[in-house]
Amino acid sequence: TSTSASVPPSHKQPTVIFCIGMAGSGKTTFMQRTNAFLHGQGKPPYVINLDPAVTHLPFTANIDIRDTINYKEVMKQYNLGPNGGILTSLNLFTTKFDQVLGLIAKRAPTLDYILLDTPGQIEIFTWSASGAIITDALAATYPCAVAYIIDTPRTTNPATFMSNMLYACSILYKTKLPFVLVFNKIDVVSHEFAVQWMTDFETFQQALKNDTSYMSSLMNSMSLVLDEFYQHLRVVGVSAVTGEGMEEFFAAVDEAVKEYKTEY
Ligand code: GDP
Ligand code: MG
Repeated sequence: TSTSASVPPSHKQPTVIFCIGMAGSGKTTFMQRTNAFLHGQGKPPYVINLDPAVTHLPFTANIDIRDTINYKEVMKQYNLGPNGGILTSLNLFTTKFDQVLGLIAKRAPTLDYILLDTPGQIEIFTWSASGAIITDALAATYPCAVAYIIDTPRTTNPATFMSNMLYACSILYKTKLPFVLVFNKIDVVSHEFAVQWMTDFETFQQALKNDTSYMSSLMNSMSLVLDEFYQHLRVVGVSAVTGEGMEEFFAAVDEAVKEYKTEY
């Protein structure tokens, strides 16, 4: 195409960063922070919002699902509840995703990063056909990485920690993309405990034992699975509020993408 012909052959494609995480983990705030950080570095990113239900977006999006889809109208028209409304909105948007790809392609030669925010409820993106279509379409053209955002203060309980890690693990195997675990809100609670649990298996087993005897043997087996999972990812601690950890985050993304390229 004329677009690709005008691209110098040495120019690398921008990296797409998917912000994925449980509701309230801080995806949108993290988007705002990474966007501001990249602007400060002289590398303004391309920003996409896929959450049709967000009321206030604290950053300017280049592409916003809300510009073309009114989620309240979708709820009314299809007689749906909030989750069905959000899912159907994402489906409607996905039918026009080729247009989004066209817009991105025009800007791609000038970009280092494309940031993508996903709906509040994690499964609407991670367990829907639309989420898979959008992910696959972008991954076919651009290097991609998943930033899995974790609410650190709400993950200090060993059983909760394990549930969250198992969920992250399922997303890794579903997307098969370079993966960065982002422990957010470290201005409230440091992620040191998590790093320790992930690097020292005994410590985590002990924490589990102290926490509960309920299903402890199942928990033990699952924590062995996680030990394998941890080998495949990078871990950073950040605060979307204070901006701590931004350099480390982008270094982790770049490394993950580079390693992925040489592996596959
Ligand atoms: P989302 O549902 O994943 O998009 O989460 P939001 O970005 O809307 O954030 C949920 C709540 O967590 C909001 O009240 C944010 O202000 C708060 N929050 C997000 N990141 C941080 C952080 O790094 N530190 C603190 N203290 N609060 C945060
Ligand atoms: Mg959000």
